[in-house]
Amino acid sequence: MLSVENLTKQYATRGEPLDVLRGVSFTLESGQNTAILGPSGSGKSTLLSIIGGLEEPTSGTVALDGQNPNKLDELALAAFRNVHVGFVFQEHYLLPQCSVLENVLIPTVAAGKTKREAVERAKSLLERVGLSERIEHRPAELSGGERQRAAIARALVNKPTLLLADEPTGNLDRTNADRIGRLLLDLQKQEGMMLLLVTHSERLAALMSRRLELDEGVLKEMLNDDC
Ligand code: ADP
Ligand code: MG
Repeated sequence: MLSVENLTKQYATRGEPLDVLRGVSFTLESGQNTAILGPSGSGKSTLLSIIGGLEEPTSGTVALDGQNPNKLDELALAAFRNVHVGFVFQEHYLLPQCSVLENVLIPTVAAGKTKREAVERAKSLLERVGLSERIEHRPAELSGGERQRAAIARALVNKPTLLLADEPTGNLDRTNADRIGRLLLDLQKQEGMMLLLVTHSERLAALMSRRLELDEGVLKEMLNDDC
């Protein structure tokens, strides 16, 4: 379970400090998926970075599987992130010189998985994202949608309990964006993990079971369209 309590984030600027998050609280139960909607600049990436332990909050707490990532020292935090959290961004960040399979295997090295177990998991994920025919390709030899699917397989290779997705369809056309949205949901259900997705796309957010809106630094529950 993920529990976020009263998070604030203030950035120092030359003039007035910038209050990006002004007290964000919510919980995500195991096996749940949620979208956080908000326009560009509303603090979505900041919130996700804090939850994933990439950035520190100004105040407030995050608890993931009973641990607060922001309380861990650098080494422990890196290890925690590697095992508990998967990240998917708008950019795929695949290494250009490595094959698709090698890219998916990279997080398993630090996690100390045995080679055979890791390769089996990577291949099975690549099959589930529809890339079994592409495992020896380099990222440059893939389409945009395929690169994003490889990045998703890489994010899941260590079986994270929480998948964080930051505008995962931002670089894709509508057909591929829909495909990636549905794929993320299918994988979330199969793996029984939590999925927290932030986006400005109402279309993508509509696929998720719960929608929250980041507005002026606070989160609001969004009403379902169908009620
Ligand atoms: P979103 O992902 O919703 O587009 P961000 O979380 O990236 O929004 O940014 C929220 C606001 O915080 C923006 O106004 C941005 O300019 C500002 N911001 C983000 N990172 C920093 C930083 N490191 N220093 C100062 N301001 C920042
Ligand atoms: Mg962003």
